[in-house]
Amino acid sequence: MGAVKKVTYRVRPETAVLTRGFDPRLSVGAARPPVYRTSTFVFSSPEAAERAFAIALGKIRPTDDEDVDLIYARLSHPNAEILEDQLVPLERAAHAAAVFNSGMAAIATLLFATLARGSSLLHTQPLYGGTQHFVHQVLEPLGFQVEGVPAGDGAALAAAAERLPNLELILLETPANPTLRMSDIAHAVAVARRHPKRPRVAVDNTFLGPVFQHPLELGADLVVYSATKFLGGFSDVLAGVVMAGDARLVSELRGLRALFGNILQADESWILDSRLSTVGLRMNRQSKNAQKIAERLAADPRIERIHYPSLFTDPEQRRIRDAQCDFPGSLMAIEIRGGKAGAFEFLRRLKIARDAVSLGGVESLACHPASTTHSELSPAELAQAGITEGLVRLSIGTEHWRDLLADFEQALG
Ligand SMILES: *Cc1c(COP(=O)(O)O)cnc(C)c1O
Repeated sequence: MGAVKKVTYRVRPETAVLTRGFDPRLSVGAARPPVYRTSTFVFSSPEAAERAFAIALGKIRPTDDEDVDLIYARLSHPNAEILEDQLVPLERAAHAAAVFNSGMAAIATLLFATLARGSSLLHTQPLYGGTQHFVHQVLEPLGFQVEGVPAGDGAALAAAAERLPNLELILLETPANPTLRMSDIAHAVAVARRHPKRPRVAVDNTFLGPVFQHPLELGADLVVYSATKFLGGFSDVLAGVVMAGDARLVSELRGLRALFGNILQADESWILDSRLSTVGLRMNRQSKNAQKIAERLAADPRIERIHYPSLFTDPEQRRIRDAQCDFPGSLMAIEIRGGKAGAFEFLRRLKIARDAVSLGGVESLACHPASTTHSELSPAELAQAGITEGLVRLSIGTEHWRDLLADFEQALG
């Protein structure tokens, strides 16, 4: 086999995602990474095994170019390592990534890794349903103090931070689901830096990242993803990712991941790895489709209101959007006249977009948040989040936008 040239100079993310993390020489010349479906690894020597354990337990540090023996697939495995290496260039200012077997696994591990006993969590509201349940059903019963402030309300966030002396984590979800209300990442970072405890700032970047929003560049410590959505892109794999500028933070998460046993397995790592080179292509196409559709639907009298970043009217929301988002993305929420009955009729009539939860895939999906994804919210919480009975969330895919627009228009009746 001829020598494989290694790309050693700095390249752009689209190139790095296809050139780093995998050396074909280690896999009989395979051009794409094989799936290493094994639960355990043969040590090169008893000494190497001893050293690998000492490194895994944090007793010693590996040297910079050391090839540490793998131990056991719950700790790490080649497909996870390849995927993690290739994810890093996609997130600006990231130096390390850890992959998990779902977005919730990533979020739960991040919360346990960053919150010490007796500390407080401050988060924007609304949160993804699973994250909100985790807070209520796991963190609060364990004694953590948790406070939520409305998305986009920087003054409320700053005031809450001052009231929480043991604040260790600020978690932002921006844009918020399903109304796309945005929270100012740079402002939350400034609040954290002023706080005596210097809490960490984590951003759930699932809706616009890694292509259109870059929290680490704005000073956030951690970004977390449901890779089930845009990174996976085809609604066929569950996965989660955490990335950070500080590689030690990611190492801590990997340590906890080994104990929870929630690493992404080899097959899923391989599937996700094969999707990374197209995430920018897909998200750009999906965002362009959505923008064309949203701007046309906005003029339709059968729709009461539309929530979409390029159509924001609130000056503060527009300011945040312009400061931190490159493109509006492919999610929107439309308020249909006729309340719940009107929304259900719309969903029933759709022929191209399917009535399903989840988002970010190449196929368009629609759902009714009030009766599904957000049905656990109280009437007051629904009102505060702007989730009305007539609201339908749309995730726009890569179909032709004119076909989708025609589908939505016929479904409006
Ligand atoms: C889907 C989603 C999650 C949870 O991810 P899973 O992969 O379903 O576990 C977390 N946050 C946001 C914003 C999501 O959309």
